[in-house]
Order: sequence, then structure tokens, then C-alpha cells
Amino acid sequence: MNSSPIPSSSSSSSSANLTSKKVAVIGAGVAGLVASRELRGEGHEVVVFERNNRVGRIWVYDPNVESDPLGIDPSRSIVHSSLYESLRTNLPREIMGFRDYPFVSLVEEDGIKKQRDPRRYPGHKEVLNYLEDFASDFRLTELIRFETEVVHVELVEEGRWVVKSRSIGEPDHADDVFDAVVVCIGHCTEPNIAEIPGIDSWPGEQIHSHNYRVREPFRDQVVLLIGNAPSAWDISRDIARVAKEVHVASRSFTNETPTKQPGYDNMWLHSMIESAHEDGTVVFQDGSSVYVDLILHCTGYKFYFPFLKTNNIVTVDDNRVGPLYKHVFPPSLAPGLSFISIPWRVIPFLISELQSKWVAGVLSGRISLPSQEKMTADVEAFYLKLEAAGVPKRYTHNLMDSRAEYIDWLAAECGSLPWEEWRKQMELESFKRTLSQPETYRDEWEDEHLILQAQEEFRKYLPAVELREYAKGT
Ligand SMILES: Cc1cc2nc3c(=O)[nH]c(=O)nc-3n(C[C@H](O)[C@H](O)[C@H](O)COP(=O)(O)OP(=O)(O)OC[C@H]3O[C@@H](n4cnc5c(N)ncnc54)[C@H](O)[C@@H]3O)c2cc1C
Repeated sequence: MNSSPIPSSSSSSSSANLTSKKVAVIGAGVAGLVASRELRGEGHEVVVFERNNRVGRIWVYDPNVESDPLGIDPSRSIVHSSLYESLRTNLPREIMGFRDYPFVSLVEEDGIKKQRDPRRYPGHKEVLNYLEDFASDFRLTELIRFETEVVHVELVEEGRWVVKSRSIGEPDHADDVFDAVVVCIGHCTEPNIAEIPGIDSWPGEQIHSHNYRVREPFRDQVVLLIGNAPSAWDISRDIARVAKEVHVASRSFTNETPTKQPGYDNMWLHSMIESAHEDGTVVFQDGSSVYVDLILHCTGYKFYFPFLKTNNIVTVDDNRVGPLYKHVFPPSLAPGLSFISIPWRVIPFLISELQSKWVAGVLSGRISLPSQEKMTADVEAFYLKLEAAGVPKRYTHNLMDSRAEYIDWLAAECGSLPWEEWRKQMELESFKRTLSQPETYRDEWEDEHLILQAQEEFRKYLPAVELREYAKGT
């Protein structure tokens, strides 16, 4: 628990003429927690449905893996978390946490100061602790129906949403009616798999990074890893410590390949895979080939909303969830249905926080949405812009290049402070470091001046906590 008084919410529910709605929030991860705080702060009555037995879900490390290691068999046993044991955050903690609830390592519990993970890019357990503190400090757990899975969501008449839910292990459904439903179920559970010609006759093993936990099973193996995003960077380096060879294939490696990964004797970068063969070899687009024991797909995830019945108003087409106005509201179902944390390659906590404030304010009537026609036209114009720029549908919610613009737009819309300059700079510095010093970016930095600015800001919320220098290393 943090040591200073925390504001109960940044929104105000006291203004006249604001409507209080009965709102269902589905999921109690980062998005669901901050959404429920913002909704209650705005004066809404909130029920959170969470199929697991605790909050913070993606951050609850689970040593178990699914019965289908590729994660494509619909009848497989589902494991929600995708964390590997060695995972440290890929963002510095100053910008990763919620804006008004600093993510610091020195906390106070029952009057005793306690140093937790002292690193700037902490391990996953520290993130879970932070989220549990957040839920406890804002008394969010009292809103949550744990071990309750939502199985059906439907608009039955104007403004009346039926949510059918089921206690885990129970056959019967319960029906509740809400004025609005906010979907916060995350998007890192349904693996996306690379298509590889010839894979059916290739004799090796395949897994998705969703089911990667520890490096030991890969000892002395020849591993081919597909992907070039943070999980692929981490996992390839983790495995290289024990594997015989690690080969990394990606669409983005277009230079002359194969190339030796600097600093490694046993890792090579390749162009994308051309085909896999019965004799265990894999051929790459550059014409080279290697014998491979195991293929590890670090190829991301698919959006999946099995409970949502919207008569095809909202669809997932090539990983585009649409139509969604500003990635949140389907125009013809707004404001009753909304989605938090759909964008990716962003700062997830900040985006969830701002989107939640927006949804809460729209539902109370404090913030107006454009007409349905205008929202639809905006979405269509956005799709045309992507098309004209040659951006495939599956990147619709990748906001890598437009994140600052999106954050500023959201902040302005919900009357929040603009994205602070120090946060922008820190995010940029961190991103540059991940590319220029992938081995050391979590422990070597030069943006001390930005850390000082962050700590200055954090003192507004944590006057009693002395902020120390970070520890380094694994
Ligand atoms: C390997 C990995 C590393 C990452 N590293 C970072 C990082 O360093 N920094 C960072 O900021 N972000 C990171 N992220 C992104 C991370 O996903 C987000 O930060 C954030 O935690 C997502 O939260 P969420 O609430 O959207 O989803 P989740 O944490 O997935 O929560 C969704 C919740 O919905 C519940 N749920 C789902 N379906 C139902 C249903 N039908 N009924 C009831 N409940 C349901 C689930 O049980 C779960 O609790 C990482 C992600 C992955 C996969």
C-alpha cells in the first residue's frame, strides 16, 4: 500500500445534471481496474466481472502452460497469462504507471517502509504488487465479482444490455441488466500464428510465446524464433544462454541475411521463412536453410470477444476491431458499448486511464460524443487513410507512430492535463535505448534529468516517500 493519501478519483461526481449509469466492466486487469475507478469516481454504479480469482491478470505469473503449446486448439485448457519467468518491464516505471498513482519501489505497509523490487525496469511481480495496491487503495475489490465469467452480452432494447455470467465451475447463468458495458478483457490470450508453407509435414515442435516460461527445456536445441517485437527480443536472448543455436526470422529483417547477432556466438537473424520440410529443415526467403528442432512463434495475439452478440455490428476482421470511433466506441452502439485498451504499441496504463476517463465522462453526460454519422465518417476516413498509406488492416490499432497525437487528443477530450513533456521525452529515450542497446537498456541510461523531473512530480502524490537511486541488474 502506498504511503500517502491518494485522491479517490480524478473525476468529480458532484456536478449537477450528470447521469449515473449502471455499468458492467468485464475484466479486472489494468484496463478494468482503472475503468472501474474512473466510472465510480464519475458517480456510476459499477459491477466488475472477473473470471479469475485475483486482479491484475496478465501480470499474474503462471508456471503452467496450455494443453496446446501453439494455443490454437479451441478446446485447449486456457492459461490467461503470457509472462515468462525472467520478464522485466519494457518501460521505465516512471512512465509505465498510472499518472496520479506513481509506480515507486519504496512503499509503506502497516506503517512500515518497505523496499520492493528496487529496479527502474522491475520484474513482473512488482507490477502485480503495484496493481494490487491500486485495487486496495481505491477499494476496487469490493466492486468485483471474482471467478465469474461473462458468457453473453447483448443489447436487448435501447439502453438495456443483458450480461449473462457464470460462476466458474457452475453450469447456471445469471442475467443482469446494465445501461452500459465496458469491455476490458485484454488482447494477449489468443495467439496469432505465422503461416509456414509445408509446416504440416515438418517433424519438429512448435509453441507460441504465450506458452514460453523458462529457458531450460530449450537446452541444446536448435530453435527458430519468429518475430521482432519486445517478447521476441527478450526470449531469443533468454534461450540463447542454453540453446545450441537460435535463429530469428522476421519480415523486418530485409538486409542481407543470415546475419550473426552481435555479442552472440549462437544467434543469427534471417529474412522471413519460405518453407518448412519433412527432413526438419527450414528455408528462408534469402535462400539459406537450417535444420530446426523447434519453432517458437513470437507473433502476437488476436482480438477475441466470444461473448459479444452485436448482430455483426462489431466484428474482428484481420485483427481490426471495428468499427470503433477512436478505438473505443462502436458508433451505432455508443455510448452503451465501449472497449478499453484496444490500441497496441502504446503505453498501456496511460491509454487505459485516459480512455476510461473519456468513457466515464461520456456516460455521465459530462462529455459529448459527435453524432453517430460523424463518428462513422471519422472511422471511415481513418480506414481510408490507413489504406492510402499501405497499412494492412491488422495494424489498425498499432499506434506506434500516432501515440502522442492520440494521447493528446484523449487528454483534451476528457479535460485531463496534456501528456507531460518529461513523460514524452522519457518514453522516446527509452524506445531509442531498446533499439540502440537492447542488451542493457534496462540498466544503463542517461536521462537522469528526466528521472528527477518525474520524482518532483511524484512528490505531489507521495510527499512522505523518499525516492532513491535505482538498483541495476537481474
Ligand atoms: C509478455 C508481455 C509483456 C508485457 N510487458 C509490458 C510492459 O513491460 N509494460 C507495459 O506497460 N505493458 C506490458 N504488456 C502489455 C500488458 O498487456 C498491458 O500492460 C496490460 O497489463 C493489459 O491489461 P488489460 O487489462 O488490458 O488485460 P489483461 O491483463 O489481460 O486483463 C484482462 C482481464 O479480463 C478477464 N477476462 C477475460 N475474459 C473474461 C470474461 N469473459 N469474463 C470475465 N473476465 C474476463 C481476464 O481474466 C483478465 O483478468 C505486456 C504484455 C505481455 C503479453
